[in-house]
Amino acid sequence: MSVAEEFAGLYGAAPDGVWAAPGRVNLIGEYTDFNDGFVLPLALPHTAVAAVSRRDDGVLRLHSADVPGGIVSLDVAALAPGVAPAAHGADWAAYPAGVAWALREAGHPVGGADVHVASTVPTGAGLSSSAALEVVTAVALDELYGLGLSRPELARLAQHAENAFVGVPCGVMDQMASACAAEGHALFLDTCDLSYRQVPFDLDAVGLRLLVVDTRVKHALGDGAYAERRAGCEAGARALGVRTLRELSYVQLPAALARLTDGTIRRYVRHVVSDNERVRRTIELLDAGEVRAVGPVLTEGHVSLRDDLRVSCAELDLAVSAANAAGALGARMTGGGFGGSAVVLAEASGPRGADEVAAAVEKAFARAGAAAPRIFEAVPSAGARRL
Ligand code: ADP
Ligand code: MG
Repeated sequence: MSVAEEFAGLYGAAPDGVWAAPGRVNLIGEYTDFNDGFVLPLALPHTAVAAVSRRDDGVLRLHSADVPGGIVSLDVAALAPGVAPAAHGADWAAYPAGVAWALREAGHPVGGADVHVASTVPTGAGLSSSAALEVVTAVALDELYGLGLSRPELARLAQHAENAFVGVPCGVMDQMASACAAEGHALFLDTCDLSYRQVPFDLDAVGLRLLVVDTRVKHALGDGAYAERRAGCEAGARALGVRTLRELSYVQLPAALARLTDGTIRRYVRHVVSDNERVRRTIELLDAGEVRAVGPVLTEGHVSLRDDLRVSCAELDLAVSAANAAGALGARMTGGGFGGSAVVLAEASGPRGADEVAAAVEKAFARAGAAAPRIFEAVPSAGARRL
């Protein structure tokens, strides 16, 4: 049954429209977004699809095909952040309800709606199923209420919903990728001002494939780590007299490191400044059509995340080392780390092809006694759209 048919079964009429918004994977530029830095995500073929109708009585009804429980019914005017998730009827409902709240809080005349979502984005794998859910809600409400907001404006509001309403301190990359990505491209995003450029990333045309290895693990260690890394970077910026680490160029890095006395902060600064530089180098290579040369830059990025920022884990390190040993061009963990996914750039076919690399990774996990990873291809896909 299609999402529109499921909607009709639930709410008794066909939806006004159906929208889709993708999950994303970040090619390079990790832990840079809260430092006003650069990121280079691409949208996945996996999407959250929402069938939505406008309601003029101020009632917001939410339903997901992917979580148990029935329809959650909320009064739009009464939405408020900082209340227990249960007050929204279900934990997951805070994401779409938060988007309606954020739009209204920004002064946009959003009323009620009937919403039914179904998503193919794996949840909790670092592929941003949450941003897909937020962005698909945002583009649907924007259109149904004739708001005419730009994609970056919708992304900002979706991020605000996740930060202030759901209570997750995420950066803006995920929502921007889901809202603004283009098929066959990676999205070069400057998180300082949300300016962006579509960078050609047509892997098929050059005989390459990008794999995502979802380790299926999530270590509890990661819970406080994001805030700790963030605070460390802010302390580094203060010590160096800059507003954010983004203001430090790669050529200034050795002198900056020499001025830092705290070894931990020095490592964090080295990661952020060098990863911004790796984004710049990756874009240069992609613009020049030298896609294979991106591989070693990815692996270098992984080493930096593992050794300097220290946000990797045994499973992610194993995915990267096994992929590279099997002839991948390069690989790195992606997302927040401590589990989640890695990306692997490999030849499309041949003895070092993506299938062989994937098989080698699976074998390495089995040999290590780790749970089998889920491996799939990341085809650079379109951002949010009406279907
Ligand atoms: P990630 O964004 O990396 O997948 P998060 O923890 O940020 O992981 O977001 C996952 C949460 O988003 C889920 O626990 C759920 O609350 C919500 N979510 C994502 N997709 C759906 C869906 N299809 N239906 C209902 N809730 C969803
Ligand atoms: Mg998320």
